[in-house]
Amino acid sequence: MSFQVFGIPVTRGVAIGRAVLVAASRIDVAHYFVEPEQVAKETERCLRGFEAVAAELEQLREALPGDAPPELDALLEVHLMLVRDPLFVGGTCHWIEERLYNAEWALSAQLEVLSRQFDDMEDDYLRERKSDLEQVVSRILEALVRGQAAQSFTPPPPRDFAGQDPLLLIAADVSPADLMNFRHGVFQGFVTDIGGRTSHTAIVARSMGIPAVVGTREASRLIRQDDWVIIDGDQGVVIVDPSPTVRQEYEFRQRQAEVERERLSRLRDKPAVSLDGQRVAMLANIELPSDAAAALAAGAEGVGLFRTEFLFMNRGGQLPTEEEQYLAYREAIEALQGRPLTIRSIDVGADKPLERAHADGRHETQLNPALGLRAIRWSLSEPGMFRQQLRAVARAAAHGPVKLLLPMVSHWQQVEQTRELLRAALHQLGTPELQLPLGVMIEIPAAAVSLRWLLPQVDFVSIGTNDLIQYTLAIDRADEEVAHLYDPWHPAVLGLVAQVIEQARAAGKEVSICGEMAGDPAFTAVLLGMGLRAYSMHPAQIAEVKQQILRLDASRAAAQVATLLQSPDPRQAARDTRLLP
Ligand code: PEP
Ligand code: MG
Repeated sequence: MSFQVFGIPVTRGVAIGRAVLVAASRIDVAHYFVEPEQVAKETERCLRGFEAVAAELEQLREALPGDAPPELDALLEVHLMLVRDPLFVGGTCHWIEERLYNAEWALSAQLEVLSRQFDDMEDDYLRERKSDLEQVVSRILEALVRGQAAQSFTPPPPRDFAGQDPLLLIAADVSPADLMNFRHGVFQGFVTDIGGRTSHTAIVARSMGIPAVVGTREASRLIRQDDWVIIDGDQGVVIVDPSPTVRQEYEFRQRQAEVERERLSRLRDKPAVSLDGQRVAMLANIELPSDAAAALAAGAEGVGLFRTEFLFMNRGGQLPTEEEQYLAYREAIEALQGRPLTIRSIDVGADKPLERAHADGRHETQLNPALGLRAIRWSLSEPGMFRQQLRAVARAAAHGPVKLLLPMVSHWQQVEQTRELLRAALHQLGTPELQLPLGVMIEIPAAAVSLRWLLPQVDFVSIGTNDLIQYTLAIDRADEEVAHLYDPWHPAVLGLVAQVIEQARAAGKEVSICGEMAGDPAFTAVLLGMGLRAYSMHPAQIAEVKQQILRLDASRAAAQVATLLQSPDPRQAARDTRLLP
């Protein structure tokens, strides 16, 4: 029966395909596809996990003291029965063989199938055995994680899914690290239960250019493996098991969107100049060096934000060496063919943890990760790691124009400390005279408010509106429960953004925006009116924002913005003055 699930739209467009569920497990495990030739090995690894747990349970049973309550023995027997259940073992192997899921994923997929069967049982006793099954699965996952600890994980190579039904990823949550494993065109859309519009998972989805809806709360519970699903990334709606008429309608919209993309792509080589002659730089945000080529293909004039933390993920806990980093930065620089590359120093923490949860399901016990030791704070507390990154960036700068950008700066002393480390690194490298422009992200209200003390320390600033909104409004950007309050139109947010642009320009320092607001056509006119002349966004958004700029008069927008900034309801003011398209 057809039904709909509602959430928060992340990437525009329509995707139609079959649901692939990534079930939430107590243990955060990797989800990836194995190569067909690895199926036998992966199945064997999976079966070893089952056997290890069966042996563990046998041992536990044998070691039970004579006076142990009989229920304990009965419980272990139930667990043993489950771990040897042909439906469970065979079903899990089936996911590996038929779908090429890795063992952990196969196990959680089978858990989900069996859990539903338990849910449907009339008998209370049997229904309650579901929690036993969950415990057994946790044990097997732990055994698999333990057995794998020595291997380092490398993302799978791109897979060719040509000729198959398009696949859509449906999950309670996907970590940005997992999503990176799926970047190579495996999924044509995705839906999650949790998350907000600017959570990092959403950002990675946007960079993949696939329609996505997050914060649906229950999609992963309601949708089943293999269901036909339509993701409407414009409206934030997910349609499950659509009727033929609805499906035809959406197929028509897909074709229309293709025509529109084709039309916009003709703007690729056209410079972004407003009607009154203001030149605007269109820059790209990238996550991996290989994205640089795609950025150029989309018409980017350089990279305004290279989120280097993604180089540090999916490495089984090993950080990349200086040489690996140098090669990665150099690859991006060379792909840009002389256009500038802004490398942001590692920004981990909050919803972008470096490591997965521990094998026993614990997460790092930071009290409040978004306010904790993250980004520049972490870098400065790990000077050995930070020095390596600085050296790699400095070495790469020999190959093309590079700037260094520091995330989450709140105190000017953090810039001073970084300069000190940078000076030492340049000295060690024998290039003390190298001029590496150093900038800060304005993401913390304190940095915006005290900008005049930061500006003399830096060569440029870039406004990270994703975090600036989060910290100004005290709204967790990844929490769907408060997503309705995450409001870029809030007068406090617009006031801070306008103030930063104005002060930076007055001080003769370059200012750009690299948060999601820069790529949102709803804000193009407002930001132009505030004086912004450098927008950095996902390559896929460049053409649409450029089209807006080509149709705008910057001085007129400036006058309208002055009125809007006096309004308690800037969104309404933008509508009234037609600043909002
Ligand atoms: C931001 O906060 O706006 C930003 C661009 O950085 P990130 O999204 O990576 O936190
Ligand atoms: Mg940020």
